Amino acid sequence: MRIDILRQRLRALGARPQHEQRVLRLWSQALPQDGGRRRPEDFLPAALRAGLPQLQLDLDNLARLRSAHPGEDGSERLLVELADGQTVESVLLPRGGLCVSSQVGCAVGCVFCMTGREGLIRQVGSAEIVAQVALARTRRVVKKVVFMGMGEPAHNLDNVMEAIDLLGTVGNIGHKSLVFSTVGDPRVFERLPQGRVKPALALSLHTTKPQLRARLLPRAPRIDPQELVDAGERYARATGYPVQYQWTLLAGINDGADEIDGIVRLLKGKYAVMNMIPYNHVDGLAFERPTWERAAEIARTLHRQGVLTKLRQSAGQDVEGGCGQLRARALAPEPP
Ligand code: SF4
Repeated sequence: MRIDILRQRLRALGARPQHEQRVLRLWSQALPQDGGRRRPEDFLPAALRAGLPQLQLDLDNLARLRSAHPGEDGSERLLVELADGQTVESVLLPRGGLCVSSQVGCAVGCVFCMTGREGLIRQVGSAEIVAQVALARTRRVVKKVVFMGMGEPAHNLDNVMEAIDLLGTVGNIGHKSLVFSTVGDPRVFERLPQGRVKPALALSLHTTKPQLRARLLPRAPRIDPQELVDAGERYARATGYPVQYQWTLLAGINDGADEIDGIVRLLKGKYAVMNMIPYNHVDGLAFERPTWERAAEIARTLHRQGVLTKLRQSAGQDVEGGCGQLRARALAPEPP
């Protein structure tokens, strides 16, 4: 379901703009529809009051918890069932973050990603994205939402922008704490600056070599890494937030001295942070993660050469930490 359909439904029940905002605010913040203080009849027209219980049921149905998997690092991976029975993953991160999914499956087909293996199944509607946040907020405080779960947000731009707008206006998430993560699509650089809520940007780089990038991200737009960084830099300067570059470290593939030189060439002096994440093992894929020592050495080298670099673990390592793995396990046939 899209948020604009939800708004139409509220208007059909007699909601005026302030009522609409109120219902959406309480829903997205997972607050009771009476606000915890006054009863709905203090605020809302009778038809809307009468329609609220059914509406609430439908909203709850948009994202239901199928299973929860706490990790040792303080994260919690949630397998979330949508109204049609499809499943996506959300991850509660330590310190109030939440990673949400924007598609069921993904068409980009990154060769190291479980989600990329099943292709695109369907888009996740804007209301389903917000419903992931509302569901997560029934478990913990959420202050930051990153669009780094299943799917490529640029391939579902209208829904993602609509969800970002709602979360950044009535959803009580700071604009800078909404992070749009993409492999880099020219439409992103046109659309993001036009929104009234401008999210922070994360760009999945993974290599500085155009040919290798085409192999690792086979259906990402053929945009040269230099062009990607130039576009990211314009957005960072315009919004005042640094771009986060994402780099999945694959042993023997993108962890060599040539790539370190390439990163320094691209990012030195840029308003940027490099996030290096050692590859998370996926059954059936031949990639390997470099040792933690090697990864730390790469991060230190980049730092010394003027590129702000953070080395991160994929959240929930001990509980099927890579995106798409929980869903894949849930779909797998039971062993005989
Ligand atoms: Fe899609 Fe992201 Fe997986 Fe690539 S890493 S296939 S963009 S979900």
